[in-house]
Amino acid sequence: MNMNARVRKPKPGWLKAKIPAGENYFKIKKELERRQLSTICRDARCPNISECWNNYHATFLIMGDICSRNCSFCAVKTGTPQPLNPEEADRILEMITIMGAKYIVITSVTRDDLADGGSTHFAALIEKIKNRRCDSTVEVLIPGFKGSDDALNRVFSARPDVLNHNLETVKGLYAKVNRNPENYGVSLKVLRQAGENNLITKSGIMIGLGETAAEIEELFRDLRESGVKLLTIGQYLQPGANNLPVEKYYSPEEFVALREQALSCGFAAVESGPFVRSSYGAGRMYRKYRGIEAER
Ligand code: SF4
Repeated sequence: MNMNARVRKPKPGWLKAKIPAGENYFKIKKELERRQLSTICRDARCPNISECWNNYHATFLIMGDICSRNCSFCAVKTGTPQPLNPEEADRILEMITIMGAKYIVITSVTRDDLADGGSTHFAALIEKIKNRRCDSTVEVLIPGFKGSDDALNRVFSARPDVLNHNLETVKGLYAKVNRNPENYGVSLKVLRQAGENNLITKSGIMIGLGETAAEIEELFRDLRESGVKLLTIGQYLQPGANNLPVEKYYSPEEFVALREQALSCGFAAVESGPFVRSSYGAGRMYRKYRGIEAER
């Protein structure tokens, strides 16, 4: 079916995003452009960009802005990725200084074209930030590295404070979103192994792609059985004409109910809301988790 031919569902009122503006927003934009750095905030057209950047919170997108995969929900460009930039880590450190960021979130495109999946580059960046900014907390949102133990162990050994890896959607929709259904199991393995390496694990999903309540329940169970502690749940928003259409807009009340359901499954902290994304309120979520752990 030609997806362009589908009529988009009208967006409900609670999904009106703010037009990006504000002094800090433009400052961050200029400094990122000056250093030719990418963020998932811009590349994925995140609706929280104005709020986050004005609060000096951004999620760096490393290893270029072209992904070697082509998930049909994602706005990031796909094609032949660029060579890795050896100056990327230093430029990110400069941005961290400008932003005065203490909680740093790093993600990447998937680099199936590289023999190590980019894991060496990823690990080196984590180590550099942790060495140079001892007071910082680093959360990484990693690709699955095809489940390669070598690649995963390389990243785990760099000791990020939070290891985030998104399932994105329920198992039954993997084929629909142009993901190999086997990758669902690979992702659970990534998360399980990260937990076994004593890393705090986090995952996230977008809802509104046609999943059922039973499938969401199954996903919660799968994540908990893999030891995942932190969860984000957000509304899928069709980023462009060539992406999958939205099947359902969940109401704010339904997001609250899903949060309660997830907490009752045993997650320690859950962010659930129409505009919630993996990195939304990431520092706040981490601190909340630490507070819960301290009380135990
Ligand atoms: S929620 Fe994450 S991706 Fe979106 S603007 Fe904020 S930091 Fe960027």
